[in-house]
Amino acid sequence: MLNQQLFIKLNSEDMSQLKVRKRLGKTPITCPCCKEVKTLDDTPLITIFQKQAKAGVYREKTDTVEALNKVILSSIDYYAGAADEEQFHQYKLWACNQCVKDEKAIIANFSKQQPSYGGPYIMYLDLMLNCKYCDTSFCFSAREQQYWYEELQLTIDAKATRCEECRKKKVVQQRLMVLLGKEADFTEQELEELIECYEMIGSKEKVQEYRGRLKNRRRVK
Ligand SMILES: [Zn+2]
Ligand SMILES: [Zn+2]
Repeated sequence: MLNQQLFIKLNSEDMSQLKVRKRLGKTPITCPCCKEVKTLDDTPLITIFQKQAKAGVYREKTDTVEALNKVILSSIDYYAGAADEEQFHQYKLWACNQCVKDEKAIIANFSKQQPSYGGPYIMYLDLMLNCKYCDTSFCFSAREQQYWYEELQLTIDAKATRCEECRKKKVVQQRLMVLLGKEADFTEQELEELIECYEMIGSKEKVQEYRGRLKNRRRVK
């Protein structure tokens, strides 16, 4: 009896991983990325949930095969069930191994994410969002999301609100604020920069005004 207990203890981790995989691996599941019916073994989900259980992400017990199985099943229900929902949510963001291989999805490092409402991202997929400022749709790419949540450490409910064009404009406007906040006379270089900024945001009058000022400046010299 004691030997057996010891055996179970020593091998429980490997054993439980194996058993869980064997029992759940053939469960059919539709990949939300390529929409093809796969089996759980064709996805990284079991491995991801096992890692999460090991990292203590779940409040439920995961110390026996049965308990781990239960947690993994309910996680899969959660993520896979949400795959059909219209509404965008991080739970439907996962993909099969083939999609990961084709770089259509990136496996997230959930331990690097800053938690907020909802569970962690387990994967990142390109998302089409609407720009809050000009209403055109733009791609918030999987790479960008990984950078936002894992490198910049933004909380997981933060989403891009500006399209690329509006993001550029925002940078230009911030630069303009700094330049225009200066009381003293502009240097030639600053005038050139102001012209460039106004050209980028399409303000023709201002471009002309500062071109004139630059011309005068050069004449005085
Ligand atoms: Zn797929
Ligand atoms: Zn925009």
